[in-house]
Amino acid sequence: MKQSISPEKAKLFSTLLVASLFMITVLTLSSLFTSHSLKRAEQQYFESLEKTIEGYQKIVSLQLTSYRNALHAFYVDEYFYNDDKEKIKEFFKKYSYKMDESFIGMYFMDLEGNAVLSSGTEIKMHVEKHPGALGKQKYYFSDFGKLPGTNIQTFAVEEAVYDNNKKLIGVIGASVKLDSFAQKILGIKLGTNDSFMIWDRLGYFLVHPRKDVIGLTYTPDSEEFKNTGTLALSKGKSSIVKTIDDAGRQMYLMTIRIPESSWTLAIKIPMTEIEKIYTPEKRQKLLLITFSFLLILLLVSLEAKVLDIFQKKQIIATVYDPLTNLWTRQRFEQEATKMLRNPHSKFMLIEADIRGFKFINQNYGEENADKLILFFSKTLNKNISEYNAIIGRGFADHFYILIKIHSVHQAMAKFKSIVDSYIDEAKNFEIPFFPKFGISFLMPGEKSKETTIQSLIGQASFAKSTIKDNMLTQYSIYNSKLLEKINEERFIESHMQQALDAHEFFVMYQPKISLSDDKIVGAEALVRWNSPKLGLMTPDKFIPLFERNGFITKLDYYVYEEVFKFVQTRLMKGEPIVPISVNMSRNHNKPEKFMHDFMDIFNRYSIPSNLIQLEILERSVMDNSTLQDITEKLHKEGFTVAMDDFGSGESSLNMLTKIPVDVLKFDREFLNASTDSEGRIDKKSEKFIHILVYLSKNLEKQTVFEGVETQAQRDFLRSIECDQAQGFFYSKPLSEQDFMQFIKLHS
Ligand code: C2E
Ligand code: CA
Ligand code: CA
Repeated sequence: MKQSISPEKAKLFSTLLVASLFMITVLTLSSLFTSHSLKRAEQQYFESLEKTIEGYQKIVSLQLTSYRNALHAFYVDEYFYNDDKEKIKEFFKKYSYKMDESFIGMYFMDLEGNAVLSSGTEIKMHVEKHPGALGKQKYYFSDFGKLPGTNIQTFAVEEAVYDNNKKLIGVIGASVKLDSFAQKILGIKLGTNDSFMIWDRLGYFLVHPRKDVIGLTYTPDSEEFKNTGTLALSKGKSSIVKTIDDAGRQMYLMTIRIPESSWTLAIKIPMTEIEKIYTPEKRQKLLLITFSFLLILLLVSLEAKVLDIFQKKQIIATVYDPLTNLWTRQRFEQEATKMLRNPHSKFMLIEADIRGFKFINQNYGEENADKLILFFSKTLNKNISEYNAIIGRGFADHFYILIKIHSVHQAMAKFKSIVDSYIDEAKNFEIPFFPKFGISFLMPGEKSKETTIQSLIGQASFAKSTIKDNMLTQYSIYNSKLLEKINEERFIESHMQQALDAHEFFVMYQPKISLSDDKIVGAEALVRWNSPKLGLMTPDKFIPLFERNGFITKLDYYVYEEVFKFVQTRLMKGEPIVPISVNMSRNHNKPEKFMHDFMDIFNRYSIPSNLIQLEILERSVMDNSTLQDITEKLHKEGFTVAMDDFGSGESSLNMLTKIPVDVLKFDREFLNASTDSEGRIDKKSEKFIHILVYLSKNLEKQTVFEGVETQAQRDFLRSIECDQAQGFFYSKPLSEQDFMQFIKLHS
């Protein structure tokens, strides 16, 4: 089975998708925008830090310059010219009060490395460690160092000393106590000064917020940041790098060179500072995401709600038909299926519709048609209200009813009385209201998986489709025979023409006997069909169908020709013959055309017209004046005319005077209905028949009774002086051969 999601779900998903896409777009756009402005904010932040660090740099430079100046105050060259160590010692002693408070001591070193300290001590120094003595630079600030023999952390400031001839003779220097330097620097607050540090050319910390690291270098433990150690950073230019501290915290480090020295000044910017820039943004983003999410949630739930309402509405439309408020067919089928599950119950299913509803719709307007449907639905609903039944409306005027019944007989009796009430009611309407019904039954024994409500409806529909348009039947009940009949009719229809061409139709003759002397006075030609596929068939099998499909007129002419041929052959052979009646179907409705076609055939044979009689039906499609017209036309050509099945219609007596027929053939039902099982006719009927025969004779009509089967019937008819009888009592319809034999015996 193919798995498919419902359109509602698909719609919900698509909404989610669209909403998500929308959210992503908004977020991307907004983050693009904010990240741009944030980049700028970050840049501004760094720019301001640069200003800060430059400020620090100035301070440090100033401090260093002040040390240089303080040192330079001792630059009194004549003391150093003569290389008189004692004189130098004296000089330091005399001017020691001029020493800067940060200076721990001072010294002079000649170009051989012999140094005199202000304390009076003479020591040997490494000349190469003093760039001033190498003639490289005038002033020099040293790297980190310790005062010899002590733990006192210092750096040195030195100045190259020249004689009168501008010849380098050595350096004077001062040891500066790191502590006091640091205090001086850190004493000036610029922002967060615990982030401030200085390291020397070799990466040793001179100033650091943490005392314990002074005099040490730092290289991060991590491979990623190993190039951000103090030594590495002392080589490059001013920069901003990302690094990591010994506690593993990431941070930015901004460095700058101090021009007076080869030192590096750095300030560290904790990541949190940068993050601070982004926090409002992050908050904003979070807010946006939350908002978007809520919006999506709202949209989706709104849509779900709308869908729900929509669906409910649809359910209303799929469950209840808006016009009649009855269940829809769909819902009806659902409920019926539940009902049918009861394995021991009998059910009756009725499908109803209104005849010519399309016509009503077109001619009386939709509004009236709707009213009619509403009326019909209300009536049906009322009718079933006292039963265990359900009802639904299908397309247009189609209604379905399922009833749990006790017995078919009871149900049908009730049903018929209801249908009769409809017919009564219909008389009060301006609009033609003639419902028709198809019925199917379901008995407990017949239940199987195949019998569904759909199949029951199918059967009822089929039964209904067999109802003719002649208003004689209002309902039809489905049974397997009905289906068989329909299938047979389909077969007949597809074979009738070729059967006619193949002469499968033939004529039999049923004698008409004069009641006064029991002699043959005529015969009726009755058609038979000998089908190789369906066997020998009497007209009831195919004539009603041919009347519906119009083929009967062709068959009529065929029979006429067969009869004319037969009569002509008899005449030509000089054999005895009697007048033959042929049947004219109810379908012929144009007297001129009929006469033309009839005479066309008749004229091909040379037989006197008084040997041929036409039986026209009382209940034909022709109206009385047309019947009159054709009778007159036939009379003109010398044929006689019999009124067939007389008494089966409503206007019988009325038309007796109007239509100039020669013979009245009383319908079989006269005898059939008034004869008991012993073949006797009841007295009441006898009287009635007597009067009719009497009347007919007075109107100078010949009287013939059909369906004479018993001697009692024959005797009665003879007693009332009826002219002729036709029926099994005398003879069944006979083949040509047998009929000729019969004539010979009964003439
Ligand atoms: P119908 O014209 O009333 O024909 C008389 C029917 O009564 C014939 O039935 C005949 O066999 C039957 N019948 C005769 N005597 C008795 C009897 O004593 N008892 C009973 N129960 N029935 C008897 P059949 O031949 O089956 O024809 C049925 C109908 O078919 C005819 O009724 C007629 O309307 C029609 N039909 C027959 N042949 C033709 C034809 O060639 N053309 C036309 N248009 N209709 C024909
Ligand atoms: Ca007849
Ligand atoms: Ca008849």
